[in-house]
Amino acid sequence: MFRRKISPIFLCLIITSLLWVPSLKGQRVNNAENAALAKIENHIVTDIHSEIGNIKSYDNNVDSIVHLLRKDGSFDLINYADKSVSIWEPSNHLKNILAFATAYSFPKSKYYRSQPVYSEICQSLRYWNRLDPICPNWWFNEINCPQILGQIMLLMNAEKPLPKELQDSLINKMKRGDMYKQKGANKIDIAMHNLYQALLVKDTTLLSAAVGQCFEPIAFTTKEGIQYDYSYFQHGPQLQISSYGLTLLVDEYKIAAYLRNTRWKISAEKEQILNTFFKDVYLKTLRGKYSDFNVLGRRISRINFVDARPAIDAHALSNVLLNAQLVDPKDSLFYQNTFDKVYGNKSPSYQVKPQNIGFWIGGYMLHIRPGYLFSVRCNSVRTYKTESGNGENLLARTMSDGATNIQRNGDEYYNIFPLWEYDKIPGVTCRDYPNDLPQIKQWGYFGSTSFVGEVSDGLYGASVYVQNFDSVKAQKGYFFFDKYVVCLGSGIQSNAPENITTTVNQSWLRSRIFTSKGLLPGKDNILSFLPDKNNWLWQDSIGYYFPKGGNLEIKQTFEKGNWNNINNSFSKEDTVSGNVFKAWFNHGSKIKNGRYAYIVAPAIGLKEMKQSTMKVISIVDNNESVQAVYNNNIKILQAIFYKAGEINYKKISLSVDKPCILLLKKSTNGSFLLSIADPTHLLKSINIQLNNKKIKCILPAGNFAGKTLQYNIGIL
Ligand code: CA
Repeated sequence: MFRRKISPIFLCLIITSLLWVPSLKGQRVNNAENAALAKIENHIVTDIHSEIGNIKSYDNNVDSIVHLLRKDGSFDLINYADKSVSIWEPSNHLKNILAFATAYSFPKSKYYRSQPVYSEICQSLRYWNRLDPICPNWWFNEINCPQILGQIMLLMNAEKPLPKELQDSLINKMKRGDMYKQKGANKIDIAMHNLYQALLVKDTTLLSAAVGQCFEPIAFTTKEGIQYDYSYFQHGPQLQISSYGLTLLVDEYKIAAYLRNTRWKISAEKEQILNTFFKDVYLKTLRGKYSDFNVLGRRISRINFVDARPAIDAHALSNVLLNAQLVDPKDSLFYQNTFDKVYGNKSPSYQVKPQNIGFWIGGYMLHIRPGYLFSVRCNSVRTYKTESGNGENLLARTMSDGATNIQRNGDEYYNIFPLWEYDKIPGVTCRDYPNDLPQIKQWGYFGSTSFVGEVSDGLYGASVYVQNFDSVKAQKGYFFFDKYVVCLGSGIQSNAPENITTTVNQSWLRSRIFTSKGLLPGKDNILSFLPDKNNWLWQDSIGYYFPKGGNLEIKQTFEKGNWNNINNSFSKEDTVSGNVFKAWFNHGSKIKNGRYAYIVAPAIGLKEMKQSTMKVISIVDNNESVQAVYNNNIKILQAIFYKAGEINYKKISLSVDKPCILLLKKSTNGSFLLSIADPTHLLKSINIQLNNKKIKCILPAGNFAGKTLQYNIGIL
């Protein structure tokens, strides 16, 4: 006979629906509220169970923990007097009990509703309750232990609650940490165990307060958190989209999924912000399953962290996708496709649409095409350089000085970082030291220049970085089109004794290196390219053209290193090795008015490279006053005016009365669309003259200063 199994949660609902349940604080929770609380508890229990994986190995693990349990309720192998601040042994006591409670409450476990395990759980919890160990590191006392205690009690509640006096006493031990005083992830973590506590005592006032604090970080801010351009800052004004930003996504989607379909659910306004940050920002920074290193902060110095799947922990991103699907079911196909893209065997171009995003606050331009992802990361007087901290990312000195990330397959830089020469970060102009220098200041610090910004029309864009660091000045422009990204440097100046170099790329060597002068023969090669010849270099389906010539040095060498070199958390035994490709301009030492020009074709076959003459791109100007590039195919002019000035090109005369960055696009009907931005964020207006048309651009202010403004100019 078929019998429908009634879940314990539903039994609980049936029983409690007959009653008004008084809470500890004496409030009365009505039937509907009670059902909602039970629903949230059920979501949490299901979520904890979803982490079990293979139940046989989980039960085997519980077996081994059972054998460690002593008669008094303590465990072997745990030093209860431990005072360590990082790996504090007593917290393993609660982790062991959590494993018991998880198995006890999971129908497929052999310990499901096991009476002996129930007694062991009570006994070991009583031991903890008596001992009440305190760690010198507040995080264990105020976050880790209260969270695990809450999870244990919620799991037990789903089957057979703990004896009341034990539960009440343990709930008192959860009342540690102030969710109102903490910020960011710590706030969410403390609010989370307040939420557990509220469910256990059926206190809807505490629940509402905890939920309010959990969702508080989902809002635009000028401090740490989500910025008005949807970039993400943590540790000061420091770009952290795929580091701390991902942590936020993990936490918030989890909580939103717990609270879904109840009156405590995430508000429509906050859901919109969260979904936009996830879909339109975080996920855009992935090429296939690999993150853009420009937005990973100091996490690039951790093994495997460029792979978005194990970043944080093994399930972080898949959990975000699953929870996002629960919160936002109308877009479930999108989340499924994203899951396939990151976890399945899809090509990196799968479902990729062309896009250009300028983060005018974050100092980051992200350029996406089906064939590649190309980004630039800059610092300024408004934003911090990429941090070193806690002994991580030790060599990050120039990591955000106009660094370029060029991904085609996605894994071009995956785990290469211990082998990098850190004064040859892709895109960066700096002094070439014999040995890499450590970054002395920790946790990020402001850049030194203000003319740093982007213009973007959503599909195309340009980015500028004026540099003045370590006695090296440079004006660096980046111009983004469909097939090509143009990189220009002017005003390069330094009195330093070292050679000044601009690195074109430093990535894994994945193919032989072909050039316009033939196949490269040796490990170290120097090519002196003459101007205005068809000079080029090709490696791993990425092509580089050098229309203005220059002294190019190219290395292809087998390198060995270890992660300890860039991160003290790892040992010298954590080794990495492989063939590295490196190409850079050597501008020489003690230079004045140095320049460079190179054009990257990030997804191009060798045959096409050999045939291409680069007539599509014209470099209109590259000097101290203006850098400008014209694309003859799509009729787009992009320009950086470092001073008031004028450009005359293709029957267009364009003048500006103040420094700015702009993009002028001719549409098929002959009318012109102007996109313009103020990299300094300080100007109120700019006067422009386009042939005979005069335009006064009133620039955005406040949180939108630096954002691109668009004007339809009409036919010239
Ligand atoms: Ca060097």
